[in-house]
Amino acid sequence: MSIPRPRPEILTISPYVAGESKVAGVNRIVKLSSNEGAFGVPPGAQAAYVALANEVHRYPDGSAAELRAALGRTFSLDSARIVCGAGSDDLLYQLCLAYGGPGTEIIMSAHGFSIYQIAGTYSGATVIKTPERELTADVDAILAAVSPATRIVFIANPNNPTGSMLSEAEMRRLRENLPPEVLLVIDAAYAEYVTRPDYDAGVSLVDANDNTVMTRTFSKIFGLGGMRIGWAYAPPAVIDVLNRVRSPFNVSLAAQAAGIAALAEPGWVDASRAHNAEYRLILTDRLCQAGILVWPSEGNFVLADFETPERAAAADAYLRTRGIIVRAVGGYGLPACLRITVGLAEEVHLVADALDAFMADA
Ligand SMILES: *Cc1c(COP(=O)(O)O)cnc(C)c1O
Repeated sequence: MSIPRPRPEILTISPYVAGESKVAGVNRIVKLSSNEGAFGVPPGAQAAYVALANEVHRYPDGSAAELRAALGRTFSLDSARIVCGAGSDDLLYQLCLAYGGPGTEIIMSAHGFSIYQIAGTYSGATVIKTPERELTADVDAILAAVSPATRIVFIANPNNPTGSMLSEAEMRRLRENLPPEVLLVIDAAYAEYVTRPDYDAGVSLVDANDNTVMTRTFSKIFGLGGMRIGWAYAPPAVIDVLNRVRSPFNVSLAAQAAGIAALAEPGWVDASRAHNAEYRLILTDRLCQAGILVWPSEGNFVLADFETPERAAAADAYLRTRGIIVRAVGGYGLPACLRITVGLAEEVHLVADALDAFMADA
């Protein structure tokens, strides 16, 4: 019997593997598997969400005008150059579908964020992965992979799951040497956590060119992963395309209100960034002292390198017996590593204590 069949490339896509949140038989879980903000939901965003309960029979404002205005004020950007999405993933998909497609090529780096591969393949494009150096995207390797079929280059800066970043100068060099018709998408999901001074989230490159997009999210530092809100800052022609193709009510009423309130939460970003910088260092130091190699990270997570896949799997299993869930990243070509989110102080010490004990036993 014949059944409906998708385009053949669809069945080559491996479904996205999300960070897990449960361990059978363990009640108290420490979830350090999805890079969610350590401080949870901003109180103002919680209140805004609850206050809307009796209004959700109404459709949201499809243009998310108030949310875009709030983003414009917060980040000193023209709100007409912002499009919101149901998470930034939504916008990454729309960009692939609109600019990629059969016969085209999309470039990402070897250990880049997996959504680029999924969304690029979904569009019908061939996704090309370029080698990295020291788990950092290599501008020269990306440039060498460009062909007449290239339509998009995706780069997460900082990257998940490696935590590595490219400086503003390297990113500028990438843009200047890409053909003008290639869209450069800078995914700055972790921008607020970066402490290195030579960083730019992408605003200056978007402003200086008409072929560069920056995407951002409320899922990390703003503590709203469950609400699904992301946004893109882009040149007018790209904004026009996104507004033609996106789902008309892609950001829910509750998400828009929560997002506006999160942006207004006093001191939230500064406190979160300061906590992260302090505890990212403490986590890194403690793991190093335990004899684990830790890659330098500018995000709210670190990549712990156990040097063999067997040891990484054993460490993961050991942490689970203690109710601690981190992220295995074999799907990213990093089977010897585990990605660990920087949580609250207590959580950081719990995971470090556990890995200390694991390394002492091993
Ligand atoms: C978490 C993350 C996102 C955000 O995805 P949302 O859809 O906005 O939740 C985007 N890019 C990278 C690299 C991420 O790690």
